[in-house]
Amino acid sequence: MTTAGHGNGRLIEDLREFSGMLLRDPKYRYAPQLMIDAADELARLRVDAEKMRAFCRDALHEFWEGDGEMQDMGKRHGLLIEVEVTEPCGEACSCAEYGADFPTECYRFAPFLR
Ligand SMILES: [Zn+2]
Repeated sequence: MTTAGHGNGRLIEDLREFSGMLLRDPKYRYAPQLMIDAADELARLRVDAEKMRAFCRDALHEFWEGDGEMQDMGKRHGLLIEVEVTEPCGEACSCAEYGADFPTECYRFAPFLR
């Protein structure tokens, strides 16, 4: 059984084969409950992750000005990505706001924080 590269017909065959395995083999008898538990856990983790994303965005905005320690911390933990820019990203961007000489480094939120 593969998880990629099959068309709709093959997917249905795979699902039937998998269901049959679960039903026939006693060692898989807990699999349906495991799937339900995994889905519940994934839902909980998504809620937790969204709370952490919101907190990180607020914290990074709140402490943006300063000695750069917050940016260094954000970069170290993969929350911020440093990009070299040759001109301001936009009027609202801090690289334009602080009138740096270009090219300069601009910090941007990692994709999962946007
Ligand atoms: Zn910028």
